[in-house]
Amino acid sequence: MIKYLIGLLVSILAVAFIRAVTSLLMKSAKEALQEDAKPGAASAPPPESGTRLRKCKSCGTFAPETRMLRQSTGGADIFFCSKECEKKEA
Ligand SMILES: [Zn+2]
Repeated sequence: MIKYLIGLLVSILAVAFIRAVTSLLMKSAKEALQEDAKPGAASAPPPESGTRLRKCKSCGTFAPETRMLRQSTGGADIFFCSKECEKKEA
């Protein structure tokens, strides 16, 4: 009878242990999947909502408006991706 109870206790502990390990594995797998779903998210933060993509007048690169150099010329604004491009067009 005692042997039976010990066996039961051991199997309950074993199940609890396996469940804990499995949930830990599932959690880390989920996190890994979420990181895979968003490539480059860590290196390049997503542009704020409402940010428009603008084309560099010099080289044609598209970038969020907030990262571009803006030049107001009368009516329309023109955008450059870098100071180098701004110099090239000037
Ligand atoms: Zn450019």
